Amino acid sequence: MKNIAILCSGGDVSGMNAALKRFVEYSKLKGMLPYFVYNGYEGLIDNKIKKADYCDVAGIISRGGTSIGTSRSSRFMEETFREQALKNLHALNIGYLVVLGGDGSFRGMQKLSDMCDDISFSGIPSTIDNDIAGTEYALGVDTALNVIKFSIDAIRDTASSFGRAFVIETMGRECGYLALVAALTSGAEMCLIPELPYDLGSYKKNFLKQMDDGREYFISVVSEALNNTEEIATWYKSELGMEARIMVLGHIQRGGNPTVHDRLMAFHFVTHAIDTLLEGKKSTVICYNDGGFDIKKIEEVSFRGSKISEELLSLGREYGSH
Ligand code: ADP
Repeated sequence: MKNIAILCSGGDVSGMNAALKRFVEYSKLKGMLPYFVYNGYEGLIDNKIKKADYCDVAGIISRGGTSIGTSRSSRFMEETFREQALKNLHALNIGYLVVLGGDGSFRGMQKLSDMCDDISFSGIPSTIDNDIAGTEYALGVDTALNVIKFSIDAIRDTASSFGRAFVIETMGRECGYLALVAALTSGAEMCLIPELPYDLGSYKKNFLKQMDDGREYFISVVSEALNNTEEIATWYKSELGMEARIMVLGHIQRGGNPTVHDRLMAFHFVTHAIDTLLEGKKSTVICYNDGGFDIKKIEEVSFRGSKISEELLSLGREYGSH
């Protein structure tokens, strides 16, 4: 079967549209017939599967999100609905399925793969949280970091004018990657993430000294995982006597014009996914490590916790010490 389909599952990220464009172009180049599954696993169950062509991907590369929709599907957790999904794929002679999503989506993909022998699956890590084990990079991370960077740069303008502290909460679920890289690259004075212990007493000592030296504002970046954004804002007032405002960045981190890096990574991820399927691999995830792409089994990425690199963590440990 030379028919191939793609779907987006879980949270959307910027770069998915670039991936869809590459998917149509590269699968056709390889003599395959491309299909879009609209609305993730929900669409797979409900047979929202349509042939895709160049006209479906014209003009989408610069848009965030995904033009074919995504979803979370509780029905897909049930075997009967997955059987329905397989029936729909078989009816269209689809022998390959590419899944853009996070580790939950890959667990779903594995379940589907376990139920059939004649369809091969390939996953492309796509989440702004960068919390997928086995890959250093997931699609959408760079765009999210750039959105955060623009936001913090803008907040710094008002923080410095007003002499205020800002406590900026980033997404990332249980992973502090976004918060750490955003804090480092935006020049924040405080960074709190679940992977590193922190000492507010030491921050207080250093910040008071800086205030004595004339410093009038601070930027704190905190990971949503810690659930302490308000506590930190109160800390500024009670311990340093400085007004603090909270900025929860929220879903703007998921959208926006995809960066060059994410567009290019989308192209590479899809190329590797299709090549891997054509090589006859049954069920894999395309990973990016040490400057190159590699293929991993789903259990190597979906059933373990991710880790931030030691190099980044060691930079993070310097926070609060000066
Ligand atoms: P992400 O892929 O971003 O981690 P989720 O964890 O919400 O997002 O998973 C996306 C979807 O993948 C779920 O809504 C569900 O349809 C499917 N899925 C997740 N885990 C399983 C599982 N154990 N069995 C079947 N499907 C699953």
